[in-house]
Amino acid sequence: MSTITPKIHDIYKQVVARNPGETEFHQAVAEVLDSLGQVIEKYPDYADHKIIERICEPERQIIFRVPWSDDKGNIHINRGFRVEFNSALGPYKGGLRFHESVYLGIVKFLGFEQIFKNALTGLPIGGGKGGSDFNPKGRSDNEVMRFCQSFMTELSRHIGEYTDVPAGDIGVGGRELGYMFGQYKRMTNRYEAAVLTGKGLTWGGSLVRTEATGYGAVYFVDEMLKMKNDSLEGKVCSVSGSGNVAIYTTEKINQLGGKVVTLSDSGGYIYDEKGIDLELVKQLKEIERRRIKDYCDYHKHAVFKQGGNIWEVPCQIAMPSATQNELNEEDAKMLVKNGCIAVGEGANMPTTPEGTKVFLNSGVLFGPGKAANAGGVATSALEMQQNASRDSWTFEFTENKLHGIMKNIHKACYEQAEEFGSPGNYILGSNIAGFRKVADAMISLGLI
Ligand code: NDP
Repeated sequence: MSTITPKIHDIYKQVVARNPGETEFHQAVAEVLDSLGQVIEKYPDYADHKIIERICEPERQIIFRVPWSDDKGNIHINRGFRVEFNSALGPYKGGLRFHESVYLGIVKFLGFEQIFKNALTGLPIGGGKGGSDFNPKGRSDNEVMRFCQSFMTELSRHIGEYTDVPAGDIGVGGRELGYMFGQYKRMTNRYEAAVLTGKGLTWGGSLVRTEATGYGAVYFVDEMLKMKNDSLEGKVCSVSGSGNVAIYTTEKINQLGGKVVTLSDSGGYIYDEKGIDLELVKQLKEIERRRIKDYCDYHKHAVFKQGGNIWEVPCQIAMPSATQNELNEEDAKMLVKNGCIAVGEGANMPTTPEGTKVFLNSGVLFGPGKAANAGGVATSALEMQQNASRDSWTFEFTENKLHGIMKNIHKACYEQAEEFGSPGNYILGSNIAGFRKVADAMISLGLI
């Protein structure tokens, strides 16, 4: 931690001591606390009410056993998590991640980020996150269904339209949400649509939710470029991942005149100098659930680099959209050297702190995840609104709302950074804008 006051540094040390081994959580806390020195000086109320100490401690953490049996009748035991971090602004809201790497430290980092991200949307939602160390990859539909039913059997005790509203994240898409909603409905005998978001269109979902995170991230980058009288038109872009966020980031970049030349998964990356054929990617990833390398079976001019480093590909815009800490200091230096002018984080915390510093010091426009990828959760909140009013909005109407929200988030971050003497520093701006909203609400609600 660099520019923070001794008092805040003490709080950080306490967080590390109280949450041993949870390195991703420590990293996420350090990143936010790093921005708060001046805020605490200017608004001493926050310190008097011990807001930072309180905000770093989840309101509730639930860990549970998830037993299920595979197609051969073998029994498996996974671990389920839900961290209900902060409900000052509304019911806990945040996705579920199913990936073998999930443990409490990952869930807490994501839940902590979610508090500030949700605050930035301006919508009435608190922050939470959950998931399991279950890996759906390579599992049959029936196995995934049995796992989801077992997971929801316990989770159902803790969630509700006015309590906690989960959604998808890595490894949790429409299929998994469907099985979970089905089990919730069966157990509660209630068609409580707003208990989960990211639902299918025929059972309470919202148009644009699938596209929202990727579209929103591109809108955010577009806003940053506009401040420099620039645009995405004609820009060569590098996107990592090939899941939900990466696919719709690519789609919106294409719509705004840019050209995406890479995508990846944990096996490596593809490079297509002519621009990614997105319809093929959707077919391979969304429908056939195949690997990104299979793209090259259809486009012989494209190359697959097994285990390769995607950030070695020269680009003007980089949009890391796979997972945390996927872009480090060396990668950042390489991107800057190759002419990168803007980075938009589609994933959560994809850039390491050292990588972030390189971008900031080089004057690269940097849209941090908690601002740039907030379009997904914002559209989830719009889905909740539609569920509550039993309404169903058109694609165009919903996308316009998303676009307006992303513009507002950009403006709030930009203005806060300016007010605190670091114009153009969207990290500082997003942390301060999100923090102040939550902190003010916490003070109003008393010591709870
Ligand atoms: P998906 O599961 O749809 O896709 C994830 C993609 O990232 C896959 O291509 C996957 O490859 C790759 N990936 C995941 N883990 C790793 C890893 N350890 N190393 C290399 N590649 C990896 O997830 P999403 O697209 O939904 O999420 C991507 C990121 O965006 C996450 O950080 C998530 O938290 C964030 N996010 C998502 C939102 C949403 O609405 N979906 C909202 C806001 C943020 P493989 O198949 O090989 O694992």
